Amino acid sequence: MSRPARPHVPMRPLWRCRACGAEWPCQPARLALLVEYRDDRTALLVYLGTLMQEAGDQLAQLNGHARPAGLADRFLTWARARGQDPDGP
Ligand SMILES: [Zn+2]
Repeated sequence: MSRPARPHVPMRPLWRCRACGAEWPCQPARLALLVEYRDDRTALLVYLGTLMQEAGDQLAQLNGHARPAGLADRFLTWARARGQDPDGP
């Protein structure tokens, strides 16, 4: 009750986090997504791929049509890493 939870969601078309202002997906957003999709990593990657496409298009327009570099790292690589995956049942 004491601290209003602001959702870490992207602000379009800048793709910065509405809550913390970092490039989205920020760390809290990544954690929330990993929890939300913990049973379906494939669906998470599909979802992130769609967002990456959208972000790429929108950022490219802001950027004088240059496609921003490093989007795959920003949107996908962290979700593929399995380092912290518990070996669930
Ligand atoms: Zn954030």
